[in-house]
Amino acid sequence: MAKAWIPFLEGRYSPTLDMWPIEAKEFNRIYKFYENLREGKFTTTKCKQCGRVAYPPRVICPECYSDELEWIELPKKGKAAVVVEKWGGVPICYEPPLIDAWIDLGEDSPVKHILSRMINCPPETLKEGDEVQLVVFDVPAHPIELKKETITAERVFFAFEPVKK
Ligand SMILES: [Zn+2]
Repeated sequence: MAKAWIPFLEGRYSPTLDMWPIEAKEFNRIYKFYENLREGKFTTTKCKQCGRVAYPPRVICPECYSDELEWIELPKKGKAAVVVEKWGGVPICYEPPLIDAWIDLGEDSPVKHILSRMINCPPETLKEGDEVQLVVFDVPAHPIELKKETITAERVFFAFEPVKK
């Protein structure tokens, strides 16, 4: 198969589902999110002024507009609260079904729920209440124009998967 300009990673990754798909540090002020992922940490931003925790991570607080934010860790395990299997209208490059879950990260988490794509998850197997965990994988670099140079910036991205019973 011809190599796509944007890596689709055999159905695991699509820029259409990426929060901030620009890969180079120079273009992406939440790049630290990806560096943290690479270290196995699932993180987001918390405002140092008002304490508001936002997910996805931000560069400016949605509450008080401060740009003094810090990185905090989120749980890497949660429970599927709602599971959606999309059989129609899935983004280009995916084989249906595309499975998304609304994940409950628990009462103690600064972010109670997140929406994530599910991988390693056969159709019609994930049920509400099942335990799920973070998976991090590489996103191979593609060329990016930076000033007069062409650079390649490798990155990682994430999804969730069912915890094996
Ligand atoms: Zn704030």
